[in-house]
Amino acid sequence: GPDLKVISTLSVGFDHLALDEIKKRGIRVGYTPDVLTDATAELSVALLLSACRRLPEAAEQVKSGGWTTWKPLWMCGYGLSDSTVGIIGLGRIGQAVARRLKPFGVRKFLYTGSGPKPESAAEFGAEFVPLMRLAEESDFVVVTCALTPATQGMCNKDFFGRMKKTSVFVNTSRGSVVNQEDLYNALANGQIAAAGLDVTTPEPLPTDHPLLSLKNCVILPHIGSATYATRSTMAVLAANNLLAGLRGEPMPHELKL
Ligand code: NDP
Repeated sequence: GPDLKVISTLSVGFDHLALDEIKKRGIRVGYTPDVLTDATAELSVALLLSACRRLPEAAEQVKSGGWTTWKPLWMCGYGLSDSTVGIIGLGRIGQAVARRLKPFGVRKFLYTGSGPKPESAAEFGAEFVPLMRLAEESDFVVVTCALTPATQGMCNKDFFGRMKKTSVFVNTSRGSVVNQEDLYNALANGQIAAAGLDVTTPEPLPTDHPLLSLKNCVILPHIGSATYATRSTMAVLAANNLLAGLRGEPMPHELKL
C-alpha cells in the first residue's frame, strides 16, 4: 500500500522485486549479500558432484537391488580432474565456487559476464570468453549470475547445442536464466551429459514435470543458502536492515537503486 517505506528481503537476489515501482515510490530495500556466499558455493559444488558422478541415481540402485556384480563401466560419470570449468557470472558466488573447485584439479577456468574482471579472475587464472565459447570449451558449466533481462533465457537451445556431449550443466542462480524445454531436450537427446539444478521455473517444480523423469538431471528445492548458521545470519541482517530503514539510518546492506 501507499504506506510502504522499507522492504527487507532475505536474499541476495532481487529479481522478485518491482524495482521501477519501488524506485518511483522512494521505498528503501535491504538485502543479504556476502553472508550466503559460502553456503551457496558449497551447495553448487555438491550439486555439480551429484550430477557428474550420478549420486542420486547410484544411491537409488543400492535401494532397488540394481547393485549386482561389479561391472567396469557401471555408474561411470565424469570427474573434475584436468577439466575446464566455465563460470557464468564470476561474482561473489561464482568466485567462491571456483575457489572450491580448484583443488579438485581443474585445469582451466573460463568465465563470462558483462566484461572482464581481471582482479577477480587472477586467483584462478580464469579467462574471460564470450558465452558461446564458454559453452563449447567447458566440461562443466556453472551458472552463478544474477537474473536480469540480459540473462533471462540465456541458456537455450543454441547454448546447449554448443556444449559437448560429455559436459555437465549446473544452475544455482535463478530458474529463468535457463530455457527449461531446451534443457530437457538437450538432456533427453544426449546433447549434454547431465544437469544439476537448485533453481527452476516455477518453484516448486510440479511433480509431473518432464525434467523429473530424467535420470541425468538432479533437481534440488532451492536450498543454496540453507544451512542453519547462514539462515540465522541472514535473518539477523534482514532484521537489522529493516530496523535501520524504519529509523531512517544507513542500512547494513542497502540495495543501491
Ligand atoms: P553478484 O552480484 O556478486 O554476482 C552476480 C554476477 O552476475 C556478476 O558477476 C555479474 O557479472 C553476473 N552477470 C550479470 N549480467 C550477466 C550476463 N549478462 N552474463 C553473465 N553474467 C552476468 O551476486 P552473487 O554472486 O552474490 O549472487 C548471484 C546470484 O545467485 C543472485 O543474484 C541469486 O540470483 C543467486 N543466488 C541463489 C541462491 C540459491 O539458493 N540457489 C542463493 C544466493 C544467490 P558482471 O559483474 O560482469 O556483470
